Amino acid sequence: MPYHLLIDGALVDSADVIDVIDPTTAQPFAQSPRASAAQADAAILAAKRAQPAWEALGYEGRRPYLERFAEAITANLDSIAATLTRERGGPIADCRFEVSRARDAIAHFATQSLVDRVLLETPGQRIIEQRYAQGVLVAIMPWNRPMTLLSFKLGPALITGNTVIAKPAPTTPLSTLLLGQLAADIFPAGVFQTLVDANDLGPLLTSHPDVAHVSFTGSTPTGKKVLVSAADTLKRFTLELGGNDAAIVLDDADIAKVADRIFAAAFINAGQVCFATKRVYAPRRHAADLAAALAERAAAAVLGDGMNPSTTMGPLQNRMQFDKVLDVIASARAQGGRFLTGGDATGQGYFIRPAIVTGLPEQARLVQEEQFGPVLPVLAYEHVDEAVAAANASDFGLGGTIWGSDTDRAMAVASRIQTGTIWVNQHMALPLDVPFGGAKQSGIGLQNGLPGMEDVTQLRILNAILAE
Ligand code: NAD
Repeated sequence: MPYHLLIDGALVDSADVIDVIDPTTAQPFAQSPRASAAQADAAILAAKRAQPAWEALGYEGRRPYLERFAEAITANLDSIAATLTRERGGPIADCRFEVSRARDAIAHFATQSLVDRVLLETPGQRIIEQRYAQGVLVAIMPWNRPMTLLSFKLGPALITGNTVIAKPAPTTPLSTLLLGQLAADIFPAGVFQTLVDANDLGPLLTSHPDVAHVSFTGSTPTGKKVLVSAADTLKRFTLELGGNDAAIVLDDADIAKVADRIFAAAFINAGQVCFATKRVYAPRRHAADLAAALAERAAAAVLGDGMNPSTTMGPLQNRMQFDKVLDVIASARAQGGRFLTGGDATGQGYFIRPAIVTGLPEQARLVQEEQFGPVLPVLAYEHVDEAVAAANASDFGLGGTIWGSDTDRAMAVASRIQTGTIWVNQHMALPLDVPFGGAKQSGIGLQNGLPGMEDVTQLRILNAILAE
């Protein structure tokens, strides 16, 4: 088998395997090793053993390893991106972009440091804030963006001196295994390891006493299970969870111009992005025009195999998500939604034609829930206060966008939105030196930027009385 787990510096197989399904065809195309509980225990032991020496290297000692890892990803970008297209679905250009973003994140964090801060310095006293590694970090990943989302954990955790075990989602294990296969020749044994499961190793990893930090990206219900499981040993944790991001279009927006951007924001990766626009609020007098402009773009989408350069949209990543989105679509139809285009399965693989839906009540499932697929409701508002209230009336609080010609006014509206990130006249700008994280039930903790590094370290205060 060309894919192996990386445990304690060795590329290993397992007694069990899982089939990996190509969502473009709904057929298995490869197999992945499936780690046993004993292999998970072995990985945790190796990570714990390796951590003190890795931390002792200091930032300068660790940087070259991350640099070499980033170079190895660059050298293998084509094959990793092609594997991603097969297992995740979606245009090869987008998969190449995802892998290059992951490489950029590793290369960026290779240059970063957390430095001691003097909090007080007087003739008699010195107080210094230091940050040291927490220990073994487990990265539990979803299937929608396996490479970038892992790199946002891996870069900050490794450079600060933690050791990392990556557990990808069972439906997208291969790209992560390829990273492990590159890492095997680069990092000391136990510093970075990979485990693939069949949705069964989570509880072991999140409750294990030798795991210091669980960094989880996935759905809100699973995030809550992680929180409960980590409680017994008071683990540190990062939870990056679901969202129901609203786009609010202001009455001075140029509808044709924003239609392009809102379409891209909503249908990136066929809507399977945590920060994708999941509902649109437009002034009543513009709503029909905007919905029609979005429907025109949806109808022009080219669905197909991601390796075909003309493909602009891929399938749903897995059968469960495909069924879930079709169910949300059925409920939107039942609740009086008017489908301007799309909303039906193509009959091949897990493809659903992108849909624009109008006429739904605010209480509709498609408006209230995270659809995580290519179906977008457009809702009309009378006054912008209504749109702000609707955007905030959600248990989620991940991101959102405001669109308008008067930037100051758009920024004032943005300042009223209760999310972790809110973009004005743009979407998905996530600079690596800027933190992101969810408000409310979209998460706890931050990733990226210095705050993302701080979240995987322990604060230590040195408080000294200076000798007379
Ligand atoms: P999921 O919650 O089903 O699975 C995520 C991971 O958790 C998988 O690796 C899975 O094997 C593992 N897991 C399952 N049960 C577990 C348990 N009991 N304990 C520990 N781990 C367990 O999520 P998904 O369907 O793979 O991903 C889609 C979700 O991820 C969406 O809600 C999306 O919004 C969210 N997401 C959030 C962000 C963000 O940054 N906030 C980014 C991407 C995706």
